[in-house]
Amino acid sequence: MVKQIVFGFILGVTLGVFGYTAWRIRQYFRLTKPYATGNWGKRLKMLATVGMGQTKILRQPVAGVMHALVFWGFLVITIGSLEMVIDGFWGTHRIMQGLGMVYPVVVGSGDLFAGLVLVLIAAFLFRRLFMKIKRFYGAEMKPVSKIDAYAALGIIFLLMVSLLGLNTAWNQINSNSYSHWLPVSSLLAPLFANLSGSALHTWHEVFWWMHIVLIFIFANLLPYSKHFHVFTSLPNVLLSRLEPLGKLDHMPDMEKEVRMMMNPDQAFATTQAEAAPSRFGVKDVTDITWKSYLDSLACTECGRCTAVCPANLTGKKLSPRKIMMDTRARMKEKGGSLFRMGSDYSDGRSLIGDYITPEELWACTTCNACAMECPVNINQPSLIVAMRRYLALEEAAVPASLATMLANIENNGAPWQYPAEEREKWMNELTHT
Ligand code: SF4
Ligand code: SF4
Repeated sequence: MVKQIVFGFILGVTLGVFGYTAWRIRQYFRLTKPYATGNWGKRLKMLATVGMGQTKILRQPVAGVMHALVFWGFLVITIGSLEMVIDGFWGTHRIMQGLGMVYPVVVGSGDLFAGLVLVLIAAFLFRRLFMKIKRFYGAEMKPVSKIDAYAALGIIFLLMVSLLGLNTAWNQINSNSYSHWLPVSSLLAPLFANLSGSALHTWHEVFWWMHIVLIFIFANLLPYSKHFHVFTSLPNVLLSRLEPLGKLDHMPDMEKEVRMMMNPDQAFATTQAEAAPSRFGVKDVTDITWKSYLDSLACTECGRCTAVCPANLTGKKLSPRKIMMDTRARMKEKGGSLFRMGSDYSDGRSLIGDYITPEELWACTTCNACAMECPVNINQPSLIVAMRRYLALEEAAVPASLATMLANIENNGAPWQYPAEEREKWMNELTHT
């Protein structure tokens, strides 16, 4: 009973803190603009392949398989974690044994994956500590990003140690009768072989509490770290942008403006309800769609996008990973101050300028290699283009070469500097040379 009360208290605190964090993030989403969904059949297929099947990450034979195994391992181990929460709350012991023959499969695969994940996490730690993987570095990768990665890997490592310790102690308490279910823990049995019955029960409780408390701590740390993708990556894949890569988003407000310009009579028909849009493109995080914000929360900071970005590879400042990290950081800054100071508050800062420079934005070739590569289907170019649209349409702040071309299109209806009536002359010159 005491265990149940203590567990109930810890669970309550965990859910309370998590609920508050979720509420805050929901408030951030409410600051954003709409994004159209639909076509759920295609989305579910995307979730099954890119999300659950990890097809994009598996394109890298070694690191990809390692990551996919950790992901699948987590899915299986989560079933056991759920059982622990039910046991802790109701005072039961391994309540899922009621599932009959399914239970050994669940426990056995959880045990196998715990061993596998433990080894893989050790390999990931080794790789980060001793191998200079280029994509883990970059101007945007501040020390806090590295601490974040090590902390998460450390916690996952301890989670697996505690799970295997728990299974081993449980097996020993039951005189190794579950050995055939537990492929990894049965190998660890000799470590506990000389312990008395009461010592085994103590270790069982120690590992049980260690595992469940680590889960609760981890769940509450995740939203404040890059590992929030544990929660957001699958929804992000499900809600992926479905249009072909490279297809630019339509701007209905811009179309309306152009139509009115070409047909001034229509301008008089415009009602108050069709007031001018507050802004063309994206200047700050309150101009982005909720999907772009979800993209930023789903970013694992893996650097696969930056590693293939031709602008970055040729020494430009642009890093698509930084675009996502900056968006997330700016929302935290702006969203936080709006809640503290009220919705009219302006801190005089914005995503463009204070986080992302025009130089970075104009370096993008819109090749979409980053979006192709991103394992969680983030679409970086759509946000980059939206910010460029703001610069072009609201600030007329475009590079000189582009300004000339745009002026030519406006004046001549073509990107060249010749008026339309001189096209024939130009053609004649070509045919006579
Ligand atoms: S679309 Fe832009 S950001 Fe993405 S890889 Fe190409 S150049 Fe880099
Ligand atoms: S945007 Fe995608 S590929 Fe780039 S760092 Fe984030 S998760 Fe990795």
